Amino acid sequence: MSFDPDALRAEFPALSQTGTVYLDNAATTHKPQAVLAAMTRFYQQDNANVHRGAHRLSARATRAFEGARHQLAEFLNAPASEEVIFTGGTTDGMNLLASSLGQMVLTPGDSVLIDGWAHHASIVPWQQAALRAGAQLVPIPLSERGDLDEAAFMALLQDKPKVVVLTQICNALGSRTPLARWLPLARQAGALTVVDGAQAVGHEPVDLQRLGCDFYAFSGHKMYGPTGIGVLWGRADLLDAMPPYRFGGEMIHKVSFEQTSFNTLPFKFEAGTPAIAQAIGLGAAAHWLQQQDRAAMARHEAQLLARARTGLSQLDGVTLYSAFDDNVGALAFNLDGEHHQDVGIWLDQAGIAVRCGHHCCQPLMQQLGIRGSCRMSVAAYNSEEEIEAFLAALNDYQEFLYDDA
Ligand code: PMP
Repeated sequence: MSFDPDALRAEFPALSQTGTVYLDNAATTHKPQAVLAAMTRFYQQDNANVHRGAHRLSARATRAFEGARHQLAEFLNAPASEEVIFTGGTTDGMNLLASSLGQMVLTPGDSVLIDGWAHHASIVPWQQAALRAGAQLVPIPLSERGDLDEAAFMALLQDKPKVVVLTQICNALGSRTPLARWLPLARQAGALTVVDGAQAVGHEPVDLQRLGCDFYAFSGHKMYGPTGIGVLWGRADLLDAMPPYRFGGEMIHKVSFEQTSFNTLPFKFEAGTPAIAQAIGLGAAAHWLQQQDRAAMARHEAQLLARARTGLSQLDGVTLYSAFDDNVGALAFNLDGEHHQDVGIWLDQAGIAVRCGHHCCQPLMQQLGIRGSCRMSVAAYNSEEEIEAFLAALNDYQEFLYDDA
């Protein structure tokens, strides 16, 4: 297996259309032809509802849809494919979990621990679940060094939280939560563990059996797949015990006007017609990623980030918030005295797409003492020339600002 960034890039039709240096991959990635083709094939050749048609188109659609579930299970090294629940994305998965698991396990006085760089998609559903149960959402603060405070985490575990929610890679900084150390600690303390893998799945292989969490949520559109689809994986015994989250067709076994019995996994959590084409597209994205040399992809991305980090540190008046060299995918920064949106607009004028704002991490921004930042984020199809163009545009901005002539 070899990795050629130019050949990989050629698989992404949008990259040659937009004329943009796309460094907003943490928000969403572009899609390779293989994913687009799988979805088009479904609409052009099958286009039927799944699980209930007597006809052959429905049988084909069902095979493709359930095939995608198997593909995802393999991609994640999940113990069983019925543990793979299709959701609308990370947000949807977290809402399902916080609502259903929250209802099952949270009682008044309980606590839910959450890392200090969590996305609103984790914070808000768990905060609301805690409020409903009379429980408390407790943040794990950042340390002076800018990572999560391990001593504080250990101390908070003494309070026996019911659930620990951890972000594998922080979208606003690209920083990594030390899951290999922290998940066993959380489990030893008796907590159920939930991982937000939204920023990890596109950058590195995920092995759920090795990771050792109880639940794992992510979005398809950040791993070269379509929008509107994601996965919530959970341990079968827990998912079996949890109450359904949404009600309707597909998720039932038997219905009368008096009562309903519910379907088995995974259907119990998939009410209504699922996002069939999107699931097939996500299966194709997983398959496409499995065919790549992922170690080489990750090395290439790390080189791009290292170059961006060096370049940024050589510019005057740049504050870098991504404190560690092993950042994954993203770097966040501000230009001293400049509003992050102004920098974003300047970069856009130069044809460079970055994200500026609070990155759905307002509590993190509060801890950093800022209202927002600029974030550049890479995917495997980005090139060194694109990083140079980004740095050159920032350099031009500095010259424009400090040109007193
Ligand atoms: N968690 C993290 C770490 C994210 O980066 C994102 C997307 N920015 C989400 C959750 C939410 O994902 P989605 O909007 O696809 O539901």
